Amino acid sequence: MRVVKWLLWVCWLLLLTAGASASGTAAEPTPAPPPPADVLVPLAAAEPLASDPADTETAMPTAEPTPGLIPSPTPMPVTLQLSPLPLAPKEVPTHRPTAHPRETQHVPVLMYHHIAIPPENADAIRLDLSVPPASFEEQMAYFAAQGYHAVKPADVYDAVVGGKPLPSNPIVFTFDDGYDDNYLNALPILKKFNFTGTFYIPTGLLARPGYMTWEQIALLEKSGMDIESHSVTHPSLKGKTADFIRREAGQSKRALEAALGAPVQFFCYPAGAYDKTTIQVLQELGYLSATTTQAGAWQKPDEPYQWPRVRIHGKDRVSDVAQRVRTLAGAAK
Ligand SMILES: [Zn+2]
Repeated sequence: MRVVKWLLWVCWLLLLTAGASASGTAAEPTPAPPPPADVLVPLAAAEPLASDPADTETAMPTAEPTPGLIPSPTPMPVTLQLSPLPLAPKEVPTHRPTAHPRETQHVPVLMYHHIAIPPENADAIRLDLSVPPASFEEQMAYFAAQGYHAVKPADVYDAVVGGKPLPSNPIVFTFDDGYDDNYLNALPILKKFNFTGTFYIPTGLLARPGYMTWEQIALLEKSGMDIESHSVTHPSLKGKTADFIRREAGQSKRALEAALGAPVQFFCYPAGAYDKTTIQVLQELGYLSATTTQAGAWQKPDEPYQWPRVRIHGKDRVSDVAQRVRTLAGAAK
């Protein structure tokens, strides 16, 4: 503003001098007049002059450059503010290491059926499928003491295809067929050891004698358990048409999702039977992975629909279970 005042002061002097010259009056040495306050006041209140860089800078304390001073059509500060944003992600380093995003895992997936004392008239199959609650509790106590952490198929899948870290000593406990003893006997023991379990449900068998109800399925899920699909009526899905498989695997998925309000993306083949068509239909329906009854403890990135499992027999002692898990988990495919 000093420059402006000075310029106005000079102009005013020049006008006075010119006026004197025009009137023909000899120019007397004129004492410097006081600054024209009446003229300066309205000017000071006016907008800063665009041609005066000093005033413009003073009027913009944020140091934001005046558009007229920047030769480039794209102001640099804007570019610099935008570019760092994609380079500052918060979760990428933790969840998705880029070095080896797809790795074979060796997580034991244990396969249980009944957690119950078998009836007196039980045949050999029923005896083999029935783990007494006391034995089951002993097995869970063993895995807890050994520092195992129960995870869900989704956790294993994320580790295999996305490199997401698993806890130390991961293990999956699965329960096939939706028997009511799963709710009555397995759930309290799993909760006692703070373990989660995955329950494969044939939805068409629910509420029949010996099977869980829909209400019990919902309670399992509310207790932190994982509910996944085991078809509708538990048929073999090997050698069947795509439409047949689509009905069994699709209706079960939709029924569970509607009842639980959560996605169901993991499947278990009834009786472990499947073929290429089964896998194609599962993929088409949005299933990410499936478990078989083949013995093993590995999950390969290129075989998401063929996860083997560790079968637990009714007569197994805890030492048998421990030995089988160690052997299969140590056997690389
Ligand atoms: Zn089954």
